[in-house]
Amino acid sequence: MAEETTPQGTSPAAPPPAPPATPPPAAAEAAPPVQKIKVRKPRQRSCDEKDAKGKLCAGHLKRWYDYPKDVEAKIGKDAEIYRCEFCKTLYKPDPKQMPHSFTLRY
Ligand SMILES: [Zn+2]
Repeated sequence: MAEETTPQGTSPAAPPPAPPATPPPAAAEAAPPVQKIKVRKPRQRSCDEKDAKGKLCAGHLKRWYDYPKDVEAKIGKDAEIYRCEFCKTLYKPDPKQMPHSFTLRY
């Protein structure tokens, strides 16, 4: 009695090694929002930024004292800067209206 067992000798061809993974393309889309700095118009006291729908922001411009270092790099130390309370747009004072002695005070 010859019992013939077919040996599992022929292994199927091994799949080729996976190609080296290509690095994903550098997606530099998620840039941090840039702080917008505008120059205040004479006697401007509310924000005139418009949103995507064209609606006027009209936020109150407040004097901003404790601005962070990256803002300081742009406007200088101890600079006079105002910030909209709603959209956070920064406003520099009108360079023609520097706070001198003859400046009108309200
Ligand atoms: Zn605003």
